[in-house]
Amino acid sequence: MTCRTCLELEEELARAEKTGDASRAVDCRVLLRRHPDHGAPPAGPKEGPRA
Ligand SMILES: [Zn+2]
Repeated sequence: MTCRTCLELEEELARAEKTGDASRAVDCRVLLRRHPDHGAPPAGPKEGPRA
């Protein structure tokens, strides 16, 4: 499952890699991994956390 913010981060990550901006790429990866909104879906209370 991918949210809109993650899509934007993925785009920015790809752009950062293309331009050689390593620090920005790492930043995007961290944000993608830690994006907090995925644990609380607006509709679908039966979706348990997947480890
Ligand atoms: Zn996200």
